[in-house]
Amino acid sequence: MEVRVENVRKEFDRFPALHDVSLDIRSGELIALLGPSGSGKTTLLRLIAGLERPTAGRILFGEEDASDKSVQERNIGFVFQHYALFRHMSILENVAFGLKVRPRATRPPMGEIRRRAMELLDLVQLSGLEKRYPSQLSGGQRQRVALARALAIEPRVLLLDEPFGALDAQVRRELRKWLREIHDRTGHTTVFVTHDQEEALELADRLCVMSQGRIEQVGTPDSVYDTPASPFVFGFIGESSQLPVSLENGGVSLAGRPLGLAATGAPGAQRLFFRPHDVELVDDDAALSGTVATSRRVGGTRRVELELGGSEHRVEIDLPFDHPAVERSRIAFRPRRWALFPTA
Ligand code: ADP
Ligand code: MG
Repeated sequence: MEVRVENVRKEFDRFPALHDVSLDIRSGELIALLGPSGSGKTTLLRLIAGLERPTAGRILFGEEDASDKSVQERNIGFVFQHYALFRHMSILENVAFGLKVRPRATRPPMGEIRRRAMELLDLVQLSGLEKRYPSQLSGGQRQRVALARALAIEPRVLLLDEPFGALDAQVRRELRKWLREIHDRTGHTTVFVTHDQEEALELADRLCVMSQGRIEQVGTPDSVYDTPASPFVFGFIGESSQLPVSLENGGVSLAGRPLGLAATGAPGAQRLFFRPHDVELVDDDAALSGTVATSRRVGGTRRVELELGGSEHRVEIDLPFDHPAVERSRIAFRPRRWALFPTA
């Protein structure tokens, strides 16, 4: 374990940006803090960096309480959304900066600093551009320089706050793949903040899903996607359909009609969640069935909106776009994987 966030609370003028948050960050992993805007991602990152102090709780680096340590003492590498490169310095000088300003005792000789900066520019695939200035680079290139600069000090932890957020979708996808490759080669413990679930799912070893200053779930992309721990996670990551159901006689019912889904628990009102693509069509009407309200092609699939129980409820299911069932006016289906959450 590299960093331990222990029961951390953070208030700004009595407004709680983080409630009792605990998280272990493992050595060498790439963990994504994922959540909507305002969920507390940047606050958590700034607390780890030492740019903010917790109102309550502790942050440990290894076994050591780092709560009173500065950013420098924690040895943090930082990349923000808006590249804060020095405009009046060349690319090489930018990358070398963190080493040059070290106290004399720990500062490598100039030749060594230059060699290391050139090596890093090679790593981020910008060799040959070292004499240019930031204004002469594209947005994506500038973020690669920012990453090289953060890596130059050989940080114990690399913190990236929506580093690709200001770039267009195509460049973002390229940099995402590229960052994953760099991480696999260098093995830095990395915390990556994003509100983009696709980015987090593709990039991270583990996700930490946040909402309203709380951690909703921590796990591998597969486990979070396949077994969301809360209605929020189900709705935020991937597509979801939901229906108000009830739990009775050991099964799930919709408007008093059993759906053939076994479930245990206290009887009462629940919400049934499933993924639109994770359904199988069945022949009888004993399962869920509805009339086709709309149907449209989305890439390689057909998204069908069904009306259930008259027109009371609508859910979406996905079928292969040329599936014969879309010609029918009534479709019966059963979710393969599903979850129940008590109605709030
Ligand atoms: P995210 O990065 O997930 O968008 P933030 O951590 O920036 O969220 O913010 C979490 C909450 O804390 C927001 O409601 C935000 O307005 C509030 N907040 C963050 N920083 C400050 C600050 N310096 N002063 C007052 N409120 C803040
Ligand atoms: Mg933020």
